[in-house]
Amino acid sequence: MTTAPAKPVRTRFAPSPTGYLHLGGARTALYSWAFARHFGGTFVLRIEDTDLERSTPAAVQAIIDGMQWLGLNHDEGPFYQMQRMDRYREVVAQMLEEGTAYLCYSSPDEVEAMRERMRAAGEKPRYDGTWRPEPGKTLPAIPADRKPVVRFKNPLDGDVTWDDVVKGTITISNKEMDDLVIARPDGTPTYNFCVAVDDWDMGITHVLRGDDHVNNTPRQINILRAIGAPLPLYGHLPMILGADGEKLSKRHGAVSVMDYPAQGYLPEAMLNYLARLGWSHGDDEVFSMDQFCEWFNLDHLTRSAAQFNNEKLAWLNNHYIKQADNQRLADLAMPHMVDDGANFDGAPALPVVLGLMKERVNTINELADAAMLFYREPKPDAALLTQHLTDAVKPALAQFAERCKTVEWTKEALSAMMKEVLAAHGLKMPQMAMPLRLIVTGQLQTPAIDSVLQIFGRDVILSRLSKFL
Ligand code: GLU
Repeated sequence: MTTAPAKPVRTRFAPSPTGYLHLGGARTALYSWAFARHFGGTFVLRIEDTDLERSTPAAVQAIIDGMQWLGLNHDEGPFYQMQRMDRYREVVAQMLEEGTAYLCYSSPDEVEAMRERMRAAGEKPRYDGTWRPEPGKTLPAIPADRKPVVRFKNPLDGDVTWDDVVKGTITISNKEMDDLVIARPDGTPTYNFCVAVDDWDMGITHVLRGDDHVNNTPRQINILRAIGAPLPLYGHLPMILGADGEKLSKRHGAVSVMDYPAQGYLPEAMLNYLARLGWSHGDDEVFSMDQFCEWFNLDHLTRSAAQFNNEKLAWLNNHYIKQADNQRLADLAMPHMVDDGANFDGAPALPVVLGLMKERVNTINELADAAMLFYREPKPDAALLTQHLTDAVKPALAQFAERCKTVEWTKEALSAMMKEVLAAHGLKMPQMAMPLRLIVTGQLQTPAIDSVLQIFGRDVILSRLSKFL
């Protein structure tokens, strides 16, 4: 389907800073970014902050933090719509001059009344065109002391059709559309108008966004045509749903991207997960962002809504944790462990410990919890000790401790030595491994005991054993 675009690709991510960067937004950003990267184009970040009541600087920061965590670097921007007011006013003035927009003095009450009349007549409520200039039409007298809005002169007939790169051809009749207010009585421009002017000024060639914007697209297309701007291609991505098929919301757990690093997810897992959520490349499930950018050309976008699946994300996170450099894991796990009271003095090197434990965890937080056994004083439970440190095992453990003084401190030598001691005392491995785990770590579940011994080192093991033998 997709052939190389005729002109350099310019995409944008245009969030409204009214909360946090949610997963749907992050996926839109990822696709826009990857598409620009695929064609060596430009990815623009634009902050749509004209809703003064809902936009906050903290939300802008949350978007920037989320993008940064994911590594979705923009090439231009961030552009803030609030800083572009002069430009919007300029375009409004130009449209008034060219006759593609007009001043409308109908009061809000009058507009409401006309809508009410239409509703009562079973029609779609819309502005009735009272102030719309037409050849030969005489407009009403301008009411005193009333500030006008500016309305866009939407075409009365015909359709707006576009080939949506996700949904296929979409056609909306102009009869469905109102003469949109593009500037309020105080001169501030409105949403769809700003988006159209921005996409024009920023040379956007491809607009990828959530399908909650499908209804805005014909309005934006009409405005773009009226101002003589080229049309971008549009792609409307279906919603992300929770596992229960409902729109993803807080009820489903974390919906803010930045909750995920806090829970111990790696950005590459989130990126890989979001990339696959709404797009496919054969059976490929695990791929790097380099691969994704190489493959992502808008083919194979999924038309149906995607369901968020926490287990799959956790599985990917486990995959990337296993692949991650141990020092990087240590840097990520360290703050959690410090919070949990870890004591690193004279303790085994954290990267080595994490390398041993990373196979079976799904998150950095789980990894940090698991690693704590090397960084706190063991407090074996008395009842468990009585159960496992039996009179039959004590002599074997004593011999084991004695031989620990001289054995070569490698996993292999320790393992061989344990087997000899077990054989000499007619015991099975768990009979000695369980009390040993309890004494050395305070818990019964640990990674392989020979690895645990080896990592703790001779001095720690001898000192801990000596307290119980
Ligand atoms: N600001 C809009 C939003 O956050 C996106 C607009 C667009 O992509 O055109 O939903």
